[in-house]
This record gives sequence, C-alpha cells and structure tokens, in this order.
Amino acid sequence: MKIKDLKEKFVASIYELYPSEEVQSFFNLLSEKHLGMSRIEIALNSEKSISEENISKFEAATQRLKSFEPVQYIIGETEFYGLPFKVNKNVLIPRPETEELVSWVVESLEKRREWREKRVEKKESENYESKRLSASLHPDNYRDCEKILDIGTGSGCIPIVLASKLPEAEIIAVDISMEALEVAKQNASLNKVNIDFKKVDILNSDNWNLKFKNLEFNCIVSNPPYVRELEKELMEPNVVKYEPATALFVKDNDPLLFYRKIAQFGKEYLKPNGLLFFEINEYLGEKMLKLLKEEDYSEIEIKKDIFGKDRMLKCIKK
Ligand code: GLN
Repeated sequence: MKIKDLKEKFVASIYELYPSEEVQSFFNLLSEKHLGMSRIEIALNSEKSISEENISKFEAATQRLKSFEPVQYIIGETEFYGLPFKVNKNVLIPRPETEELVSWVVESLEKRREWREKRVEKKESENYESKRLSASLHPDNYRDCEKILDIGTGSGCIPIVLASKLPEAEIIAVDISMEALEVAKQNASLNKVNIDFKKVDILNSDNWNLKFKNLEFNCIVSNPPYVRELEKELMEPNVVKYEPATALFVKDNDPLLFYRKIAQFGKEYLKPNGLLFFEINEYLGEKMLKLLKEEDYSEIEIKKDIFGKDRMLKCIKK
C-alpha cells in the first residue's frame, strides 16, 4: 500500500468522528511515530510503499481513535512547554492552561531573584556591615537555592519544566499514585533534570511530618483534581473515558477539599513570604479567594487563561 492510500483509508475511517484538522494532525503524529516521517516528507513521498507491519500499526491506532482514546495515549507521548513527555492512562495529559501556570511561576520566581540580587548589591554598595543584613538578604543566603514543591505531579510536567528553567532550584514532587510517579520519573530522566519524587497522600495530614520533616519551601505549586462530578457531562468523551478520574474529579459537596488542605499545609511548610500557586476551576474563582483569605494568605491574585477563564491563583504566606 502506498502512503497516499494509507492516508485516504485513515481519513475515511474516522472523518465522521473528528473535525478534519484534527484528523490531519492525528495522521501527522502517527506518521512521525511509526514511519519516522514529518508532514513534509509524507507530502513529498506519497507514492512510497508502506510495510505490512506499519499498515497494521495504523489500523490499530484507527481502532483506538474510533473509541475516542486520546491520541497522546496511543502514541505514548506529548509535548509540554516545548519538552517531550511520556504519558499513559495513569497520568493526565498535560494541558495548555498548565503551561500558563508554569510560566507565571517561572516569571514570579525570576522576578524575586532579580529583586533579591539588586537588594544585596544595593546594600553592599551602601557599605552595610554584613552582620546587619537580614538573613534573607545576606549575600551567602541569597544564593541559597529555591526550594519548590509540586503537589499532585502526575506526568511531572510542572516540576520538570521548572527544573529546566530554574536550574538552581531544588525540587520535590509528590503524588498519591505510584504509577504516576513511575511516569514522572521517566520524564525527569528523559529531560535530564533532577527531581526528588515521593509518594504522598496530601489529604492525610497525620503523615505530613513524616514525609516533609525539616523541610520548608519558598514555593508550592499544585494542579489538584478540581472538576466537580456535576461538570462531567460538559466534558469530552475522550477525557471522561480515558483520563485518570483520581486526577480530575472532586465531590460536588466539597470541591475545594484539596485546596483547603494544601493551603493548611502551606502554613506549616512555606517559608514566610513564600509563594503558593494553584491551577483552579474556572467556576470557583470567588470561592478560592474566600478560602485563601480565611486561611490568612496575602496578595491573593487570580489570573485568567488564554480563553478568558479564571484559571490560576497566586498568593503569599504572611
Ligand atoms: N483542566 C483539566 C480539564 O478540564 C482539569 C485538570 C484538573 O482537574 N486538575 O480536563
């Protein structure tokens, strides 16, 4: 079979199920994976013959697409923030809105570092005695690396990007799922970054002291489960049927459970002035503000995603 016939057959079998741009993009992704050919190479070699083995790989993928399995699980990988990530059914497929959250974290931490460095230079040039500098401004301390914690790491997409953007940071990432942590570990080595992964159920506060003994963080990030059961029917079948429910859903009667626990955790394990970042449910922005006020955080700020929806929150421990 020639490439052009393979493509025709592929398009014909799923065109009723997906928009045509999506069908195109599935074909390109599968060709890249199974034939090692880019979109351009496919176009230039449409008369080339395909082996039986590769034809059956395309057939298997077509069957899975017919039952709405996400193409990223079929291929086993995806891209996030320009980096490659392995994914399987044990982890959520990284979302573009999470890229926006990560950008915000990187920007904020870089701004803080510049600010700290400037303060130190200024103090030094004003000839302050070093003993009069507060600990956080002491030149020996400002080089002290950032300590960052990601809670509910899944594929590891958040800490891995942070590690690649902030090479001096020390990063710990936790998840309740051992299977997810396996994927995250693979992704850390794929991207050549060093992250300390731990299995933790963050809702179990009795265990915090055991798991985080003597640790304090400058920054905590989390994209916890936040979709209410009542929102399930608004979701695409590929998400509901294939992505891990534990990473997505919360009970309708207590949708902020994870945020409340993490905010309480932050009060014990964030340094004073430490930053807390969340990805949030677009419908629950107001409730999030109220929660973090009640938990006594300051400078609470909500940011919209590119679709204009309340999607991220940043606040500071007093
Ligand atoms: N934004 C994701 C979705 O709508 C949900 C991510 C989450 O629950 N943390 O599928």
